[in-house]
Amino acid sequence: MTRGWFFLDVRDNMQRVRERVCRAAARAGRDPGKITIIAVTKQVDVSRIREALEAGITDLGENRVQEMTAKMSELPPGLRWHMIGHLQTNKVKYVVGRVDLIHSLDRWNLAVEINRQAEKLGVDARVLVQVNVSGEQSKFGISPGEAQDFLDALGDLKRIKVQGLMTIAPYVENPEEARPYFRELRLLARRLGENAAPGTCLDYLSMGMTADFEVAVEEGANMIRLGTAIFGARTY
Ligand SMILES: *Cc1c(COP(=O)(O)O)cnc(C)c1O
Repeated sequence: MTRGWFFLDVRDNMQRVRERVCRAAARAGRDPGKITIIAVTKQVDVSRIREALEAGITDLGENRVQEMTAKMSELPPGLRWHMIGHLQTNKVKYVVGRVDLIHSLDRWNLAVEINRQAEKLGVDARVLVQVNVSGEQSKFGISPGEAQDFLDALGDLKRIKVQGLMTIAPYVENPEEARPYFRELRLLARRLGENAAPGTCLDYLSMGMTADFEVAVEEGANMIRLGTAIFGARTY
């Protein structure tokens, strides 16, 4: 059996991911049961997604709206969907009311549009504020220094329910190099939580991907977003 073949087995991959999450949680003295694994299904066929569901996955993440809504119509109801990618304002209407959590709230006009669509449907919109901890030009997100003002302003948008923060660490060879970014997000959430308005909670930290999720768990991640580790390498 080649390693390549083995890596295609979603159930085996899930088992290994769970073991790695458990060990990372143990190193940090954390309860692994409090860590949600979000299977990132971009570029993944529905049949492979079903294998992940059979292996116990309940949370799915997509970064493209069209791909997500197409898959929603083919997969069973009752799954939790996470919008994890950069969201255009003209696509918000397809997302609000359909996803459990938007991880990528990264600018004011997007917040206004999410609030407007939620108001229209009479629902609340649960969101994470995406923070660009590394300051890389190529990354979306609010800068850490602006996060407090951004949260304060969100207090006026009554349908928006902030649940926490999300970040994408820079790509690094050694996952240890991502640790300071994850730590900074955790500390930022703690600081913001101290001044948070009623209705705002900063309990969720969405951080960690295939390359760095163990370090993210050690630093307090309670939502990790895994594509490659579960489904194997994407083809693009
Ligand atoms: C693709 C993607 C992931 C998953 O990436 P892997 O490295 O395959 O685990 C996580 N988060 C975001 C925002 C993504 O776009």
